[in-house]
Amino acid sequence: MRPRPLPPDFMDAGGIFGNSTHNGFAQARQEMVETQIRRRHITDSRVLECLERVPRHEFVPAEFRDRAYEDAPLPIGEGQTISQPYIVAAMTAALHLQGDERVLEIGTGFGYQAAVLACLAREVFTVEFRAGLATEAAERLARLGYKNAHVHCGDGTLGLPEFAPYAAILVAAAAPSVPAPLLAQLAQGGRVVVPVGDVENQDLQLVERSHDTFRTTMLEPCRFVPLLGAHGWKGTAQR
Ligand code: SAH
Repeated sequence: MRPRPLPPDFMDAGGIFGNSTHNGFAQARQEMVETQIRRRHITDSRVLECLERVPRHEFVPAEFRDRAYEDAPLPIGEGQTISQPYIVAAMTAALHLQGDERVLEIGTGFGYQAAVLACLAREVFTVEFRAGLATEAAERLARLGYKNAHVHCGDGTLGLPEFAPYAAILVAAAAPSVPAPLLAQLAQGGRVVVPVGDVENQDLQLVERSHDTFRTTMLEPCRFVPLLGAHGWKGTAQR
């Protein structure tokens, strides 16, 4: 199947480019893609193009805007973080999105990863446990024109059965093991990327489904905030 062409640039539609601050951000974004992503051997041109387009500075707290394109995770409050650009790129690239997929993300946070997925796939459903973050991410994604990203509030370890199956599932928090409901909601030939390990250190795992066989590949070591909920770290499940 040929990859679907990328949609028009969201920020162009809003007429935001043209002022010097935003040109500065655009340049920072290009440098981010070149030095942090391409140089680390992520070559999927659609992924690179989306990372060049999605305005990451809109998806970080105001006080961190100037650091939005740094090679680091950033705090988003409530002890949570927005992932380093490279890890967003590596997880996204591992999903091999072609443009027609329905994708599920667990752990919306500020919505940056959801925006990147929305740029690459037909539809994105993203589940956030914390109500405040979910409401703000939904508003942010709508304001920036990501009409195909849908935010739900709840325990993402249960998946989102009403819209299953998903061709791809991305878990943006550290799981003790791959939540069984997510595997059940994965389409034939589908892929899950998920950090699995203890609360301190994890390995990024890729799980591929072929009929009822699931093949797991270890991608690289990583560090995420804990996945809470029924199939996550249960003792920490209070909101
Ligand atoms: N993808 C985000 C960053 C995610 S940080 C971004 O791009 O900004 C991890 C997020 O997972 C946090 O917001 C946390 O509240 C959420 N989370 C933790 N456990 C969860 C669960 N069981 N279901 C849904 N969200 C969960």
